[in-house]
Amino acid sequence: MKLQQVSESCFAVLNEKNRVCDANSGLINRGGGVVVDTQSDLYHARRMIELFGKVWPGMPKRVINTHEDGDHVWGNQLFEGAEIIAHRTVPDRMKQVADPSETQKLLKGADRLLSRLVLGATHPGALAIAKQLRQDYDLDGVELALPTTVFDERHVLDLDGTEVHVIYVGPCHQVGDTIVHVPKEGVVFAGDVIFRECTPMGWTGTYEKWLRTLDLIVWLDPEVIVPGHGPVCGIEGAMEMKAYLEYVRDESRRFFEQSLTALEASKRIDLGPYGAWRGPARLYLNVERAYREFRSEPPDAHWDAAKSFDAIYEVAKARGIEVEF
Ligand SMILES: [Zn+2]
Repeated sequence: MKLQQVSESCFAVLNEKNRVCDANSGLINRGGGVVVDTQSDLYHARRMIELFGKVWPGMPKRVINTHEDGDHVWGNQLFEGAEIIAHRTVPDRMKQVADPSETQKLLKGADRLLSRLVLGATHPGALAIAKQLRQDYDLDGVELALPTTVFDERHVLDLDGTEVHVIYVGPCHQVGDTIVHVPKEGVVFAGDVIFRECTPMGWTGTYEKWLRTLDLIVWLDPEVIVPGHGPVCGIEGAMEMKAYLEYVRDESRRFFEQSLTALEASKRIDLGPYGAWRGPARLYLNVERAYREFRSEPPDAHWDAAKSFDAIYEVAKARGIEVEF
């Protein structure tokens, strides 16, 4: 993990491996201190607090969660007494999709020989992701700390004269997607609306909303974007994300019209330059989402996580690339 200053008062803590759960956090070191997203486990959250401690004394008084996924909220509990801000949908969604005990069960299962064999036979992708996560993460002791302040469209903070705009943009990658804009310093903390140099993992939302949000970020014209995953970038990060999503949606349409399944399409779509991004087989999620839209299914249709990871695993195997999430 490393600390990077991105403007006068804005900082990022970046997880450099850039695999699943390696999420970034932000800090605005004014007006009591504001942290954006809190990492995937207590070890990483403590390391983030230590790094931010170099540029802000004491614990920040506010936390913003950019959405409900575990890798952005599982360190919340360490900010005792802080105001935790998120979109109105996030508390319920956290309970649905970020139950730490479920993920911990998967990680522990991967540790035990028998359950490893069973899991490997029935869900090779779930076993593979559990093994990968086990290398870096341990959810022992994680308890959900839910947002204490929720908002609907927009929430504005005044940090000693520096405005921070917390803007709801979901559902695009997840239901609660929120970006944090610091206009005076030309900074956007984009959450998982932007993945940089790694393949996005979209869950509940629509392509249309996601593309419009990327347009909004370009329109805000920040000098610096801190993405949810991957290195800091400028607006080219938003434009590349948009190009990727449009490309995947178009290619998915082509294969959908040939009556291929989403899994088969994911094995065949030419990755082009995106093959160099981390976790290229995660493409499957984006193809499956496109297919759901073509079939007019609701964007919040249930995802079977184990089956989805199995599909990613299968795509990587079929392509002869490393299985990586
Ligand atoms: Zn994330």
